[in-house]
Amino acid sequence: MVDVIHDPAAMRDRVRRSRVAGRRVGFVPTMGALHAGHASLVDRAAAECDDVVVSIFVNPAQFAPHEDFNRYPRTLAADCHLLETHRATWVYAPEVAAVYPPDDATTVTVAGPAAGFEGTIRPGHFTGVATVVCKLLLAVPADVAYFGAKDWQQTLVVKRMVRDLGLPVTIAVCPTVRDADGLALSSRNAYLSVAERQRAVALAEALALAATMWDAGAAVAAIETAMRAALDHRGLAVDYAAVVDAESLGPIVEAAPAVALVAGRLGTTRLIDNRELPPRGGGRRAC
Ligand code: AMP
Repeated sequence: MVDVIHDPAAMRDRVRRSRVAGRRVGFVPTMGALHAGHASLVDRAAAECDDVVVSIFVNPAQFAPHEDFNRYPRTLAADCHLLETHRATWVYAPEVAAVYPPDDATTVTVAGPAAGFEGTIRPGHFTGVATVVCKLLLAVPADVAYFGAKDWQQTLVVKRMVRDLGLPVTIAVCPTVRDADGLALSSRNAYLSVAERQRAVALAEALALAATMWDAGAAVAAIETAMRAALDHRGLAVDYAAVVDAESLGPIVEAAPAVALVAGRLGTTRLIDNRELPPRGGGRRAC
């Protein structure tokens, strides 16, 4: 049985004792409703570390009042069951009041990579993310914390926060796990009707198109137009479809990796995805 810990001080104590004993500790922060994407992070952590902590905490601070905090799936028993088969040592499942005391007055705001895209569509979201990740890292002072490339902009925000605050943890970014048709696994996929699930493949289709056009040397504006059309074609309401520099999320930089970012809505469900694009070399200007 995986050991579930609710108290931050008890969690910190376990991790510290483990590290003092010379054990390497890995940490996988999640909001639960675990799927094979989360499991891949746990597997990577288990392969690289002696002990693995998986946090399960639906973080109210990263949801706007009109978003899906209340209906977000909460499946702790099933999550623990899944983690039994993935060599997690501890589940950290704090109460909201333990993370956010009633008179809580402190937040962590990251500028730079938090601007634009999710930061524009979901104002305050990344402050909620950075604040909770900071608090979680204090309760789980691990050697390495594992995040999914699925949430590309989030990985940039977390890496910048860790660098700027000098937090003593290494951030590892792991590949996106997908269904057979290319749809990135997400806890929010559970909201989709059967018809919406079929149309959700549009995100992967748009990204595949972007990769093909990128490899063929197409201009960024043409790629973005084509991605938007692919999303429109399946009836997604597009929030953004962009090709940007993978680190700054600004304009493409010659010979540097890029990333295609897409976000859209199917009914009441919002989905995001991305695909890394290799550097363009040979003196060819991308835009
Ligand atoms: P969440 O529970 O959605 O907050 O996600 C927790 C962690 O799992 C984040 O670092 C996500 O980027 C990562 N993650 C979510 N979906 C996937 C996926 N399909 N493949 C790999 N990692 C994922």
